Amino acid sequence: MSPPSTQTMACLALFAALQSRIFFSKDAQYLEIRPQSAEDVAEIINVTKPFALAGKIMMAIRGGGHMPWAGAANLDAEVTVDFQNITGVNYDPRTNLVSIGSGERWAAIYSALDQLDLGVAGGRVSKLPLASGEIVEANTQSHPDLFHALRGGNNNFGIITRFDMQTFPEGQMWGGLVSHNGNAFPDVAKTFINFAQTSNPDPLAHVIAAASFIQGMEVALANFYPAKPQPDPPSLAPFVAIQPQLMSTVRDDSLLGFSVEQSSFSPDGARSWFFTTTWQADLDFMLSVRALGAEAVAPLSASVPGFVLAKAFRPLTRWLLTASAAGGGNTLGLTPNDGPLIVNMLQTLHTNAADNDKVVSAMLALNTSIEDLAVEKGKFNKYKFINYGYKIPGL
Ligand SMILES: Cc1cc2nc3c(=O)[nH]c(=O)nc-3n(C[C@H](O)[C@H](O)[C@H](O)COP(=O)(O)OP(=O)(O)OC[C@H]3O[C@@H](n4cnc5c(N)ncnc54)[C@H](O)[C@@H]3O)c2cc1C
Repeated sequence: MSPPSTQTMACLALFAALQSRIFFSKDAQYLEIRPQSAEDVAEIINVTKPFALAGKIMMAIRGGGHMPWAGAANLDAEVTVDFQNITGVNYDPRTNLVSIGSGERWAAIYSALDQLDLGVAGGRVSKLPLASGEIVEANTQSHPDLFHALRGGNNNFGIITRFDMQTFPEGQMWGGLVSHNGNAFPDVAKTFINFAQTSNPDPLAHVIAAASFIQGMEVALANFYPAKPQPDPPSLAPFVAIQPQLMSTVRDDSLLGFSVEQSSFSPDGARSWFFTTTWQADLDFMLSVRALGAEAVAPLSASVPGFVLAKAFRPLTRWLLTASAAGGGNTLGLTPNDGPLIVNMLQTLHTNAADNDKVVSAMLALNTSIEDLAVEKGKFNKYKFINYGYKIPGL
């Protein structure tokens, strides 16, 4: 009988330490651990560290499991730590902070805060076990260097078990989504670039524009949210004025209501990926990016069942970058002087696994052609919004 492999030894050690938290996939191809506390996570780190340092096992961390490419939040034939049992949304009126378990979902968080007329937008404190197995709180006072590194550092600096987030009063908001035939894209793009470049920004307004190609049909979209129930604020009225419209969901609603609407655009069961580039806000360049997308989509729409490409454009205005810098900035080197920038996401949907390679290679080629054009036109910015990144080197 041959001796057990190092991987089997690692599994046995984990099993001995955390028996009731361990699950095997039906075909026993991978092992999943569902910790229930920061202490469980520290134990997982302590037990697996010798095997991981020797390069004998790899470990993936899964929060919501939303990141779609293989390897981001799960690993075949390796260990996945799944946070679905570390939940809880607890608001403290003395500090105005809400503590959120890192396996919690946004709908549950918004729903709990909605009942208190509160909202959240960003993290303040993170409780996390480090590679040493030590459990620490990272914030501007305690381990500030670690806190800074976490803002953009992905899972390279520890495993987060709790986020404490600053809340703010939030009632009903006015906003929603307006869609048009693709012919209206130049009007949407012009209004969007004016919004991104304005020297008189509205700090309560945010917009996402998109050109979506749905089985060959193009739709131009604007999705906008001022954080108050004031209809048609001057910053957003130009979007509502674009005609003709295919559909409008503009209304008063809660943060929860708007996020439920967003979820409905991403049906369960479809295959999906994201790819991203960043470039300087410029109307001609945005129109060129749309044309590149239309060219790349044509062969896929004809041959890939269920194929959809959404090219979404999100502004990083100077105002937003200034506010971010005042709140501690990010580790990825963006400064207010870099703005206004556009974070451009390509999101695909399709039906069959057999088309995976075809879709990925076409989208990687499209992303590269957008970057090459941005360099050629002097519009390129090296920033990559990691939440929309595909597994490309350097991200
Ligand atoms: C339909 C859809 C809409 C989206 N819309 C937006 C949007 O509007 N804005 C936006 O910013 N992003 C958006 N995203 C992207 C989304 O924010 C990212 O996919 C994000 O990573 C999802 O979080 P998650 O907890 O599901 O992460 P997972 O997919 O579980 O993990 C992503 C990465 O984070 C690491 N990680 C997860 N949990 C922890 C932890 N506790 N400690 C340390 N590392 C951890 C994982 O190891 C992995 O590398 C969208 C995604 C989808 C599918």
